[in-house]
Amino acid sequence: MVTLSVVTPMYNERAAVDHFVARLRPVLDDLKVTYEVVAVDDGSADGTVSRLLELRAAWPRLRVVKLRRNVGHQSALAAGLRAAAGDYVVSIDADLQDPPEVIGEMLAKATAEDLDVVYGVRSDRSTDTVFKRRTAGAYYWLMRKLVGPWVSGQAGDFRLMSRSVVDTLNQLPEQRPVYRLVVPSLGFPAGEVTYVRAERVAGETKYPLHKMIKLSLDSVTSFSAAPLKLATWLGLITFVVCLGLVVSGLAAWAFGVVVPGWTSLYIAMLLLGAVQLICLGMLGEYVGRIYAATQNRPQYLIAFDTGAEVPVFTSGR
Ligand code: UDP
Ligand code: MG
Repeated sequence: MVTLSVVTPMYNERAAVDHFVARLRPVLDDLKVTYEVVAVDDGSADGTVSRLLELRAAWPRLRVVKLRRNVGHQSALAAGLRAAAGDYVVSIDADLQDPPEVIGEMLAKATAEDLDVVYGVRSDRSTDTVFKRRTAGAYYWLMRKLVGPWVSGQAGDFRLMSRSVVDTLNQLPEQRPVYRLVVPSLGFPAGEVTYVRAERVAGETKYPLHKMIKLSLDSVTSFSAAPLKLATWLGLITFVVCLGLVVSGLAAWAFGVVVPGWTSLYIAMLLLGAVQLICLGMLGEYVGRIYAATQNRPQYLIAFDTGAEVPVFTSGR
């Protein structure tokens, strides 16, 4: 009999967690598999953990892993993947935007077609805001260019993975993995199921703009050195333009034409300054990540894991 782990990172999801459990439990019970649900509390400050522990009293298959502080969605997911023990592992958001009913479809597809990964692909995002859809569209377009065409345009972190995929992921030494890019880049046999993205059941998005920007920077820097090459090209282009200006400036001087200087100097100075700062910033993004990698600090710290107390997959339903 296959065993299934459902991994859910949660950050301040007190308002959503009851809905989540109420909808997930019957779905999993109907699957007729042995399962565990690994809820990873990503340093919530709104009582998510105490509510999870209360819910666990009535549903021992709900395992609670509490992280010491907020480390972000992807790192919380990393903690969950390391804790998960199932033959198959599904990662799913806590806000019911990913419908739990699709898990059965994913599992059926994986076992029937012998697949290692089944992506949940959003066929309809009309419940997301225009801003979210546009930024997501731009993000996935860029990622397909930088990482490769195997990155799905509409697959987030709702996916099923086999034990071999999870073991491979768990061995990666990356400090800030972006799973939606890392998983397809491994090249395991993969399939897709489509679903309609629902509205968040309760609470607010936990992905404000600065977290979206951070995810995008992590995505680009972990897969591509293109921005560094862009700096080289920007430098070369600026150099050629400057050379032209130097020649024309010298010619004007030789013919005795006095160039009125202030405006041109001012513009050139600002432009060059901006180009230099942008390039320096790009370099900084990479150097900062190299620095973090050499420090090799823990990606997250676990405050407690209830899974350690109750043996997983031994008790009946
Ligand atoms: N999340 C997390 N840590 C964070 C931010 C988000 O664990 O720092 C979780 C969140 O609780 C949810 C999932 O990641 O289960 C996706 O977040 P959200 O639904 O807010 O993102 P959106 O759907 O708006 O992109
Ligand atoms: Mg969401």
